[in-house]
Amino acid sequence: TPTAIIRNFCIIAHIDHGKSTLADQFLLKTGAVSERDIKAQTLDSMDLERERGITIRMHPVTVYYELNGTKYELNLIDTPGHVDFNYEVSRSLAACEGAILLADAFQGVQAQTVANAFLAIDANLKIIPTLNKIDLPHARPDFVIGEMEQALMVDPDEVMRVSGKTGVGVEDLLAAVIDRVPPPAGSPAAPLKALIYNSHFDTYKGVVVYIRMMDGVLKPGQRIKLMRTGREYVITEMGQFRPEPTKVDELSAGQVGFFTANIKNIEYVNIGDTVTDAVAPTAEPMAGYKEPKPMVYSGLFPVNNNEFEDLREALGKLKLNDSSFTFQPEVSDGLGFGFRCGFLGMLHREIIQQRLERDSELNLVQTAPNVTFEIKKRDGEVITVHGPQEVPDAGLIEEFREPIVRISFLIPAGNIGDLMGMCTERRGTFVRTEYLSQQRVILVYEMPLAEVIYDLYDKLKSVTHGYGTMDYEVLGFRPADLVKLDILVHGQKVDALSVIVHRTSAERRGRQVLKKLREEIDRHLFEVALQAAIGARVVARENIAAMRKNVTAKCYGGDITRKRKLWAKQAEGKKRMKQIGQVEVPQEAFLAVLESD
Ligand code: GDP
Ligand code: MG
Repeated sequence: TPTAIIRNFCIIAHIDHGKSTLADQFLLKTGAVSERDIKAQTLDSMDLERERGITIRMHPVTVYYELNGTKYELNLIDTPGHVDFNYEVSRSLAACEGAILLADAFQGVQAQTVANAFLAIDANLKIIPTLNKIDLPHARPDFVIGEMEQALMVDPDEVMRVSGKTGVGVEDLLAAVIDRVPPPAGSPAAPLKALIYNSHFDTYKGVVVYIRMMDGVLKPGQRIKLMRTGREYVITEMGQFRPEPTKVDELSAGQVGFFTANIKNIEYVNIGDTVTDAVAPTAEPMAGYKEPKPMVYSGLFPVNNNEFEDLREALGKLKLNDSSFTFQPEVSDGLGFGFRCGFLGMLHREIIQQRLERDSELNLVQTAPNVTFEIKKRDGEVITVHGPQEVPDAGLIEEFREPIVRISFLIPAGNIGDLMGMCTERRGTFVRTEYLSQQRVILVYEMPLAEVIYDLYDKLKSVTHGYGTMDYEVLGFRPADLVKLDILVHGQKVDALSVIVHRTSAERRGRQVLKKLREEIDRHLFEVALQAAIGARVVARENIAAMRKNVTAKCYGGDITRKRKLWAKQAEGKKRMKQIGQVEVPQEAFLAVLESD
């Protein structure tokens, strides 16, 4: 069959286990890139990704490799390495028949290794378990293989051993891909069916659509239809990443590549959608399509209100390349005109915010993030709420619902008690534990997403001294006893500081926020009253004493969190202030609601 020489596969791994380094070795060993040309991390080409060492967007590559006299076409589809992008991982898995399951030979199986392995197994991919970094002097291959066997039901005899750094074992691994991963099914004679697994925006060509051909043949000039929206386009250019974009005359069933078709807006191109022929369409689109759904929201306000339009333009530019990011104008009493932005998760939020800082000169204030909520009103209507300001009066609410995740931790066995305590405190429900070995254990809970984004990651890292990892998936919405907690500064309600919290923790959260605010807001010539309230009921209060004549500078406390460091770095000396009534409130204060002790 024509697809017999094609292999489509991806590498799945926990962050830092060496996915990008190994991908670079594939380019070297197949001669696609010379040693001289290879930049560090060719496949992770975005600056931010390189800085943070995380693959955010997927970069596919097509290479050719000869084995026993046959030249094979190998398509490596890189997957993003963070929970925020789980859906994109699942779509890129759907474009493959096999997956290299990579584990660091020292660190062993981690939370993301497990989560991604199960996604791959669910997608019916042939798994090639692989130990990486076997060159490390402290590598412990037998121990890690034991973990893979225990956690992932891997057959120890099938485990490949490589070093992405030195190149040892990489050619054997390529041979294993050819041997073990089945060639794609699909038929060139069938009606066109292609899976969109990614895209990016090019200023000159419009949207570049990344596809895996399932059936049929695609050629320039062909009229195609995006099945989700029914929109039709004519193909202008097609190609493959080898790794540079290289034009081809056609793409046929089983192949991986890209096309352009003068598509002006990335929102028309949905990851997971199916491309078919406009004239002779396929009967059924690919299964498993999901709308991208932002789960985390926060407000973004220009410090100078006259920069509102500039901010809109900057957000629009970001959106060009990222359809899962959303923004809507929002007005706040305290902060004026700004936007409520939606993100897939906390990392996505950080990335977008950093790009904004970098690409625009705008001076911005960002409010604390919250999750999406559902509210069933007494009149029966169910509304989706993206921020505290959208919450209707308590009297109108019949049921408040919040997103729940299933969260898995992979931790040293000695930390299990601490972690269970942490989860219980955060309204978690125990699901199960599983020992990988005597030293390491998987702990699974169901928990509100709000508790996860609040501070869980930082707490996990500190409790486990950096050794714990976590991964989660959203299960759906469940009713909870939630309330809107308002913050008043000098008698004025600051809507940008309101938070939605569980009733039982409202008082504690209120006290925490006020304490932080007291640290962040400078003394004024008058006493500043701080209050936290549910409706008209004040649940916590603090005061900032009036300035005495000889007090000139404020002394910052020792509690410097990671987030604040980040802000300080980004602020680069400029002080971001907002005037609330007569009180000057710095940017840090708006993040105070995010921080715990
Ligand atoms: P990714 O996050 O999975 O893409 O991981 P990277 O490829 O960025 O690698 C993470 C770190 O591990 C980098 O500092 C690499 O230099 C290092 N690394 C990757 N592969 C190897 C290996 O085989 N041996 C050793 N010693 N280090 C490696
Ligand atoms: Mg990487």
